[in-house]
Amino acid sequence: MDAMSSEDLSRAQLELFHHSLGFVKSMALKCAVDLGIPNAIHLHGGCATLSEIIAGTGVCASRKLHVHRLMNLLTVSGVFAASSAATGATANAPGNGGEAVAYQLTPMSRLVVDSNKLGSMAPLIRFLVNPLTVPTFFDMHAWLKADEQAGGAGASSTTFFKMAHGCSVYEMTRKNADHNALYNSAMVAASPTTMEIILREAAGCDIFGGVSSLVDVGGGHGAVSVAIAAAFPHVKCSVLDLPRVVSQACADGVTAVEFIAGDMFVFIPKADAVLLKWVLHCWGDDNCVKVLRKCKEAIPAGGGGAGGKVIIIDAVMGAGPAFASNKETQVLYDVHMMHIDGVERDERGWEKIILEAGFRAYKLVSLVGIHSVIEVYP
Ligand code: SAH
Repeated sequence: MDAMSSEDLSRAQLELFHHSLGFVKSMALKCAVDLGIPNAIHLHGGCATLSEIIAGTGVCASRKLHVHRLMNLLTVSGVFAASSAATGATANAPGNGGEAVAYQLTPMSRLVVDSNKLGSMAPLIRFLVNPLTVPTFFDMHAWLKADEQAGGAGASSTTFFKMAHGCSVYEMTRKNADHNALYNSAMVAASPTTMEIILREAAGCDIFGGVSSLVDVGGGHGAVSVAIAAAFPHVKCSVLDLPRVVSQACADGVTAVEFIAGDMFVFIPKADAVLLKWVLHCWGDDNCVKVLRKCKEAIPAGGGGAGGKVIIIDAVMGAGPAFASNKETQVLYDVHMMHIDGVERDERGWEKIILEAGFRAYKLVSLVGIHSVIEVYP
């Protein structure tokens, strides 16, 4: 190996620390959400000192210096902003215990405030960083080495989650009521922000033009369909999901849309359009092709402008804005999906399953960050 310059050596070492400590960022964000720090800042008029945050969250006053260090990290990573409490000038949370600093919300932390008009995305953070899933990543290397043919520890596990827990994520949601509630609340919490972006885009892209009925397959508790029905009252929306999900949604009192209990691999009710949001990325190609074939049977043939289409909302790897965090989030998401045997697809990956399922054409209608819209025509 060539000798590195001191500058390169120290940069490389720093990057290694940066990567290895990346999990602290996730944990600090979850900690702030669990403590209710974004709510406390919001309730304090959008700007709060450390003492005000401590008073607003019930954190023990003796931990003040530790909260200051937490806020320092969250400010450097952009979750909060900091300015001098006296002058208002941008500050980087100096080491005086934080009292001279006023912390503010950034666009990111505004999304986890309870009174946010789109609802708080806090349940999504709690789900992505949950104690049943995160530790299973410790077994990723062992799972990758486990030879499926030869047998041995982990060999028959489709995912490292299953290797760790002896069951898939779906089985876990069936047998662990807390995990099920965490999962469902995360799906509900994530949808309004996504739908706000997509419905704004939809106006320009005419996604729902000519669609008078829509079935939201794997629609969970119906948050997406409720948003579509509100924005496009002429579209009759129904949600197809597994019986236990539908009965929970009905028990929760969601009435704006019709719920149908069923299995998308067996039957999808007829409609002008079938919506699949965050469903196909949970499955490998063979299963996706099976679901897409069922979707094709459910919509009018011919398609095009007057309905007869499948609308997929999922990530398209490599698409969207060029900034670094977009690209990194996409690949993080992809590896994250390995724990449920899911996959994020690039355009070629989407094209492959769409054509294999017998569709004629598709169009990437909107590529907004982590959620893109693909229209698929029979
Ligand atoms: N579309 C929702 C939920 C996505 S999570 C949203 O964007 O918020 C995937 C959903 O697929 C879950 O609600 C899960 O219960 C559902 N699902 C999984 N297998 C299914 C099947 N065989 N038939 C119907 N729905 C299924």
